[in-house]
Amino acid sequence: MGKFPIADAQLTKTWICRKCKGRNRAGVEKCKRCGYKYLRPKRKEKRVKK
Ligand SMILES: [Zn+2]
Repeated sequence: MGKFPIADAQLTKTWICRKCKGRNRAGVEKCKRCGYKYLRPKRKEKRVKK
């Protein structure tokens, strides 16, 4: 869990378009900016400290 649970939740729900790198919500099939179909989830575990 991160420091900011709300921010974490938002990151998890964010999908990045592989073409235009626009942010989309989880559940969308296409980028709403350019209509590209291939999205990737935004990485959540970028900074992991132990
Ligand atoms: Zn796009």
